[in-house]
Amino acid sequence: MHLLWIKIPALAVLALLPWIPGVPAFWITQMNYIGLYSLVVLGLVLLTGVGGLTSFGQSAFVGLGAYSTAWLTTAMGVSPWLGLLAGLALTCLVAYGLGVITLRLSGHYLPLCTLAWCLALYYLYGNLDFLGRYDGIAGIPPLRLGGWSLAAGQSMYLLIWLVLLLALWATHNLLDSRAGRAIRALRSGSMAESFGVDLAHYKVVIFVYAALLGSVSGWLYAHMQRAVSPSPFGLGYGIEYLFMAVVGGAGSVWGAVAGAAAILIVKDQLQNLLPKLVGNGVNLELLAFGVLMILVLQYARDGLWPVLARIGQWLGGRASDGAPARSRPAAAADLPHRPLPPAGQVVLEVDRVRKEFGGLVAVNDISFQLRAGEIMGLIGPNGAGKSTTFNLISGVLPLSGGQVRFMGDRIDGRPAHDIARRGLVRSFQHVQLLPDMTVLDNAALGAHLRSRAGVVAAALRLDRASEASLLQEAARQLERVGLGDVMDQPAGSLPLGRQRIVEIARALCGDPVLLLLDEPAAGLRYQEKQALAAVLDQLRREGMSLLLVEHDMDFVMKLTDHLLVMDFGTPLAEGVPADIQANPAVLEAYLGGLDDDWDPVAPAPAAAGAPGLHPGAAS
Ligand code: ADP
Ligand code: MG
Repeated sequence: MHLLWIKIPALAVLALLPWIPGVPAFWITQMNYIGLYSLVVLGLVLLTGVGGLTSFGQSAFVGLGAYSTAWLTTAMGVSPWLGLLAGLALTCLVAYGLGVITLRLSGHYLPLCTLAWCLALYYLYGNLDFLGRYDGIAGIPPLRLGGWSLAAGQSMYLLIWLVLLLALWATHNLLDSRAGRAIRALRSGSMAESFGVDLAHYKVVIFVYAALLGSVSGWLYAHMQRAVSPSPFGLGYGIEYLFMAVVGGAGSVWGAVAGAAAILIVKDQLQNLLPKLVGNGVNLELLAFGVLMILVLQYARDGLWPVLARIGQWLGGRASDGAPARSRPAAAADLPHRPLPPAGQVVLEVDRVRKEFGGLVAVNDISFQLRAGEIMGLIGPNGAGKSTTFNLISGVLPLSGGQVRFMGDRIDGRPAHDIARRGLVRSFQHVQLLPDMTVLDNAALGAHLRSRAGVVAAALRLDRASEASLLQEAARQLERVGLGDVMDQPAGSLPLGRQRIVEIARALCGDPVLLLLDEPAAGLRYQEKQALAAVLDQLRREGMSLLLVEHDMDFVMKLTDHLLVMDFGTPLAEGVPADIQANPAVLEAYLGGLDDDWDPVAPAPAAAGAPGLHPGAAS
């Protein structure tokens, strides 16, 4: 509701602009171009800015939209609206095909591929007879809506900006949803997979979405210009679109409009101004443009929109961006829970699991069993292979040998998202949160598999009931681990110890049968550790199983039912905490290579009577 006093007058001015006396027709044309460019750039904000997939080839999709309608309305005489549908269908098909093939490529290969397909389509348009070769197609009819012709610049202006505002709304909705969290997690790689996000699927989705926006822009362009030729769909334009996304700022949907407007206006002004300053003979536009670009990137690294938003904030409201801050979400229907196996049933069976990194055997034929309602500890010096074991179990790394069974089914070789779907969820030793996203959204990412709300529902805001349930669950888990007070803060603003706790809440949102925690207590203060231990103990009593890597021996000895000690990838000892504390081989391993994280402590109350694991106990 905030900023309404700005939004309503701004929309009114926007809608009435062409009819305000004294506004030059040139401005309307300029606004039309800004709208057309913004549509394409909006797709890039999602694709490149949020999803991290760089494309130089968006102009090719604009061309598909433009040529489809141009050819159908001139050669076939069909309605432009059919031209739109055909263009969208063709773009969808081509983008899907290209996406499935090229989005697997990592690093520089994807941008290179986008260059290639952009050039290929450009030459295709230029060489096909029925598309008029490099002369293109002229005589495209204007759009008609009922009996009303949209031939005039003013009426195209209304249509273009209406479409743009709808696209901004839909994209904003999309980012603020289950699918949006998955898309924002695309850059994180394996982390999101571990919560059931099918990264490949969402990459293709945003790729097709961005292509469709380009296609719509092309359709509008063709009917505004009433003629098409290959040149506006070449590589130069593809690069310019990307430029606009970078300059505008990829963190917000409005960055698309800011970037398109800034570049079009500056380019235009330079074209007017420079010849007056330096005479007509020298073409300094590109040089001046490049210098401006460097300045923007130097002083507004995240683009212009964050700067504009800050000015808006300063002018008196809270600036809105891609992800609005929220406090505790409203009450909603509870998510269904997975039934937990009866206490004592074998949940996880690790059978001679092995991992080799080149010549290094990081995990050397480790075997153990974990039963329902049990907290098992995996301990050992740094480099013992504990985190690698976690990665093998959770499907983050492929095994070199051995088998893993979860609830009776083999899961080794299964993708991480499939393992998460079965109820095996984890946290990471090196915190893997999305630092710019709120704590609440980070936690809700963990509940990804507990809703099926899709991209279309999200864009049209039809997912609100299911989204409210997800957010409520995230809030509940955050409150459970003591983070209720920081839900609407960016996760990156929390101290590292508390970020680990966010990871636990995120894992709990996945409704796990088995929870794998890699050093959950690292970086916590004494009271925080006590509180964490109480939460983990409560989870065990509710029937959840936990596998824990932890260096704080006090914490481990008090909490666990059963311990496995690893050293150099091999199992050293296994048993109840009291026995492990007294095991000479374990003492030898630890005391021989005593390092910072070994924290000998007095025997824990749970292990009272057993000799303490400290130098004196060895004798
Ligand atoms: P821990 O968690 O017990 O401290 P890790 O499982 O992280 O130990 O590492 C075990 C061994 O495997 C270490 O020697 C480490 O350097 C090595 N290692 C871990 N991950 C990789 C990797 N991706 N590539 C090569 N070596 C690795
Ligand atoms: Mg580790």
